[in-house]
Amino acid sequence: MFTYTIGLEIHVQLKTKSKMFCRCSNDGENQPANTTICPVCMGHPGTLPVINEQAIRWGVKTALALNCTINEISKFDRKNYFYPDLPKGYQISQYDKPIGIMGHVDITIPDGGMRTTARIGITRLHMEEDAAKLLHAPEAGASLVDFNRSSTPLMEIVTEPDFVSPAEAKVFLQDLRLLTRYLDVSHADMEKGHLRCDANVSINVTSDDGITTQSPISEIKNLNSFRAVERALEYEGNRLWEEWQGGGDVRTRNYKITVGWDDDKQETVLQRWKEEAHDYRYFPEPDIPPLHFTHEYITTVKSEIPELPNQKKERFCRDFGITPEDARILVEDKELAAFFENTASELDAWLCSMDSCDDAFKTRTYKLLAGWVINKLGGLLAVTETRIEQCTVSPADMAKLIALIAEEQVNSTTAQKVLEAMIQNGIDPLTMIQEQGLEQIQDTGLIASACQKAVEANPDAAANFKNGKENAIMFLVGQVMRELKGKGQPELVKDELKKLLG
Ligand SMILES: [Zn+2]
Repeated sequence: MFTYTIGLEIHVQLKTKSKMFCRCSNDGENQPANTTICPVCMGHPGTLPVINEQAIRWGVKTALALNCTINEISKFDRKNYFYPDLPKGYQISQYDKPIGIMGHVDITIPDGGMRTTARIGITRLHMEEDAAKLLHAPEAGASLVDFNRSSTPLMEIVTEPDFVSPAEAKVFLQDLRLLTRYLDVSHADMEKGHLRCDANVSINVTSDDGITTQSPISEIKNLNSFRAVERALEYEGNRLWEEWQGGGDVRTRNYKITVGWDDDKQETVLQRWKEEAHDYRYFPEPDIPPLHFTHEYITTVKSEIPELPNQKKERFCRDFGITPEDARILVEDKELAAFFENTASELDAWLCSMDSCDDAFKTRTYKLLAGWVINKLGGLLAVTETRIEQCTVSPADMAKLIALIAEEQVNSTTAQKVLEAMIQNGIDPLTMIQEQGLEQIQDTGLIASACQKAVEANPDAAANFKNGKENAIMFLVGQVMRELKGKGQPELVKDELKKLLG
């Protein structure tokens, strides 16, 4: 058996209007190749970089949201290496004075994990510029360079090796994507490369006499989906373990290897195995003066941080009594969470006006709302691939519908039909129910006679139920509901039928 030790290095592309050190559009990924470029981001001699203030501010904002300490003085450095995607021959990055250091994030790991919560240390957050994009065209025997991405602002976030399973690494990354979206600093779309991840993994093996040895690290480069992160880490952990058991090189070598992830074959591929002393000859970027962050600046940026996903999740559970799972689903989508909350506050007005409204009824209503927003409304919107912000249903109308369901004025089948109409033509639920006479039948006499009729018309089903076939009653309930034009309350109908047949 073995255990994992995992650390992540994540690049997050900021969605600023312009690039990191020039005024070129930062929307190069949607433009023809080599059109959002200028002499600065092409690295022409004699040009000077000018810092993008917004990018720095967003870097500080993210570092604060990750509970980092902001370095009072932060500076840029040149990282020297030669590659065709790097026109200057160096990348402007940060070496010993990054923007933020020593942060942490708390994560919750879903079922089946070795632990349910974990605090993950953030080693550092620094800013740097992206390199150009290389497009390999083997049929032409050439590689092409698109400089649009050159000098796009990136945050690099490095974690401590605090993850003990691939699932934890995936959860962290998903949380980070959500966090940067809440902070409104990145689109954080992994498929588009806005969020890229390198993972360092090693395994710990405990011998029979209780001595634990840690294997050398494998660095997995450029993982570009959450699934790939989890799969690649699992694969590499198991591969190291097999190599260990076979008495392989992993037992003796003392340097790390670099591997890539082949998504088609679902396996890691060795890229570099010899010990390579990277000498980037970092030195301070002479063209950019150091940054001084004043206490006042940091306080101001801190005040711009909105309520973060974890805080929102906790508040939803606390204030509305909904389940952590429902809270998680709502919070995953900022707009959906806002819709839920606005509808809940509309419902509040209604709940407060009721004579007899206890806490239990309130909680039941909020839970009902969460279920309807997530499953019913969410389900209907998913069919047409409509986002909640494009949906015509207002929180006020949604609240009316939920109130009608909570008061048992309509049953759930009718409510579903009403919701569909609300989505299609923005109809007011009260008007629709009154005009079309959809209110639930409360008249017990009416229900009793419909039940009687159904039992008489379906003697076989009635007999089956009497003989112990519990399911037979559902057929009879269906018959009664048809008789009542779908306006009966299924529970009442069922009770009445049982009374008749009992
Ligand atoms: Zn430029």
